[in-house]
Amino acid sequence: MKSDEPSSPAQTRILDGKAIAAQVRVEVAAGVSRLKNQGITPGLAVVLVGDDPASQVYVRSKTRACEEVGVVHFDHRLPATIPQAELESLIDRLNDDPRVHGVLLQLPLPTGLDAGAVLRRLDPRKDVDGLLAENVGRLWNGEPRFVPCTPLGVMRLLHEAGTPIAGAHAVVIGRSQLVGKPVAALLLNEHATVTMCHSRTQGLDAIVAAADIVVAALGKPQRIVGAWIKKGATVIDVGINRLPDGRLVGDVDFDSAVLRAATITPVPGGVGPLTIAMLLANTLRAAENTSEPR
Ligand code: NAP
Repeated sequence: MKSDEPSSPAQTRILDGKAIAAQVRVEVAAGVSRLKNQGITPGLAVVLVGDDPASQVYVRSKTRACEEVGVVHFDHRLPATIPQAELESLIDRLNDDPRVHGVLLQLPLPTGLDAGAVLRRLDPRKDVDGLLAENVGRLWNGEPRFVPCTPLGVMRLLHEAGTPIAGAHAVVIGRSQLVGKPVAALLLNEHATVTMCHSRTQGLDAIVAAADIVVAALGKPQRIVGAWIKKGATVIDVGINRLPDGRLVGDVDFDSAVLRAATITPVPGGVGPLTIAMLLANTLRAAENTSEPR
């Protein structure tokens, strides 16, 4: 077969994010029971401010996942009218609470509250979302402690796929703090040659065409099409977009990309399930690190 001919979907490996996330949960549950035998129960404080329906759904999934693996969760449901100072003093109390190893502040906060100021109050050793400057800096220094959960999920998928990373050309589309930048740092730490793209990037199609690994996190439905993708590439689609007809799709046009990629993630059922699994893994790690000096 000539190299520019599409492969058939039968030859393409479609990564099962649900199955891989289930495996991560089994590993976390084993770690939790090891810690419990030492008298430590990993604890996650979940702070939800206001009544945003999407945030409520995310928080419910996270707390249910905690219960499945034996992580205790401390729920703080607060009204959107809570004063900034009161929210910050809750964070102070959670910092001091030895039962709480990780704190999850569900974002976005309602208008009028300063999420940055609340987060800066948080003890970096409890920052299981990996958002604080100290944890971001540690990641870029190649000595990560907490890394945002979705990028960790992306790496787990690449590892499970057996995709060679060292020396590969990885193209990351999107440069958000939560996804694109940490994915790029993780790939760089594993010796990929990384190109980061964003909304001002020129000639995105040609850049994607040179990639051995494509990580799409731009938040534009089906924007990355199969014709751009190098035959045999690994394609990780982080995007979650709802079309007007109600369907959930990624940032990659799956139907055309599956004909070119050697390995690809679907949406839904790809990266999504890994995100919560990695939050559990980070919480376990926080509990394991409780004796770590500051
Ligand atoms: P975001 O904060 O909106 O960032 C999007 C990034 O994409 C920005 O850096 C933006 O560039 C870039 N971009 C936008 N349009 C572009 C274009 N036409 N070409 C190239 N780059 C473009 O989004 P995010 O939070 O990173 O999320 C990205 C996607 O992942 C969304 O669909 C989101 O729903 C999904 N997501 C999924 C999970 C999961 O668990 N699976 C978790 C988080 C997010 P500029 O910086 O220049 O604006």
